[in-house]
Amino acid sequence: MSVEQRFDVVIIGGGPAGSTLARLLGTSRSVLVVERSGGDTAGRPQAQKCCGGLLDPDAQRMLATFGLGVPRQVLVGPQLFAVRAVDLASGLERHYQRHYVNIDRGAMDEWLLSLAARSATVARGATFRTFRPDKDGLTVRYTVGGQPVEVRAGLLVGADGAWSAVRRALRGSSSQRPDYVAIQEWYPNHTVSSCFEALFHPAVTDFYAWTIPKDGKLILGAALPADKDPAARFELLKRLLVERGWELGAPALRHGTHLARPSRPGVVDLGAGTVALVGEAAGLISPSSAEGFSYAFRSALSLAQALGPGQDGWLGRYTAANARLRAELAVKALKLPVMYQPWLRRLALASGALSVDRVDTPISRSQ
Ligand SMILES: Cc1cc2nc3c(=O)[nH]c(=O)nc-3n(C[C@H](O)[C@H](O)[C@H](O)COP(=O)(O)OP(=O)(O)OC[C@H]3O[C@@H](n4cnc5c(N)ncnc54)[C@H](O)[C@@H]3O)c2cc1C
Repeated sequence: MSVEQRFDVVIIGGGPAGSTLARLLGTSRSVLVVERSGGDTAGRPQAQKCCGGLLDPDAQRMLATFGLGVPRQVLVGPQLFAVRAVDLASGLERHYQRHYVNIDRGAMDEWLLSLAARSATVARGATFRTFRPDKDGLTVRYTVGGQPVEVRAGLLVGADGAWSAVRRALRGSSSQRPDYVAIQEWYPNHTVSSCFEALFHPAVTDFYAWTIPKDGKLILGAALPADKDPAARFELLKRLLVERGWELGAPALRHGTHLARPSRPGVVDLGAGTVALVGEAAGLISPSSAEGFSYAFRSALSLAQALGPGQDGWLGRYTAANARLRAELAVKALKLPVMYQPWLRRLALASGALSVDRVDTPISRSQ
């Protein structure tokens, strides 16, 4: 195997963080994006990324910062203007006004990656394996269709999500133990919900579960403690919903993923030496809602800006640029014991503060 090419920056992962970084670096650097999905010649369907696919106002603000509007092919129906918070233990529920953009997650990633591909080289169906640092940079090894490829890089960026192989190669496999597992099931032809529902029950999770309607289907998902039998807790959630009158039937799709909730020190890691981490690979995701698009966008922007003057000193500039984002995460983490305290939640729901009085009709209930 010969070392083929040298790039200034090799980015592992073409999700929101990796493709945004590649797009922002533009033509000022030679960039390679190594993305595991796509380029699949065996005719296997691409795995659907386990995500709710909602762009919240923070993510929308970042798209505004980038001057980007979401194209029509990325949008799905219905667009959502409310979140229904339901305490499954007490039966209390309230509606709150929220502004989400409901998207097809796969289409969103493809769109962002297509923008990156205008200036960067993108390798699809390519899986990162390892890297070897030396005095002139690094050698990065990935495989395509089982065949090894090596490239030279000045900087390696791990944008490969919560279970980041780059981060594990950098810090060791015990360095990143995601403490939650997210499971989602997709139910076809569902007509129950016309809003994003946040579901709470202490026997299910100390985080939350959700439903999201998407183009005639309903996603039922939950973020569950990884070490407390998440599969059994997901079944309990379904039983609780059926007891409330839900008819779930058989799911058309079930998938899951790791989720590293940055609610304790050590989860956030921006990299070291000639290896940078962005997005969820860096542990950047909201510990209160699991919203991650805005963190992926913001960390990609701050790394691109940190690389502006050149690679020397990038980590100091990147760390400084992320100080505010990390402070926001710390504040959110501090609020968690209050936000997720069952009796306080019940108090808040019972008070009805900030909620919207819904006027339900048979049509709005079945829409
Ligand atoms: C269940 C769930 C629901 C969520 N819902 C929402 C939501 O509604 N709204 C929201 O804002 N956030 C949501 N999030 C968070 C959001 O999905 C993530 O924060 C966001 O996708 C992070 O972007 P990223 O680019 O850092 O990582 P990812 O989106 O995970 O992208 C990583 C990329 O790296 C690739 N990759 C991984 N390993 C390798 C490898 N070895 N070699 C090559 N490529 C590799 C993957 O194929 C992927 O394309 C949710 C998270 C979960 C778990």
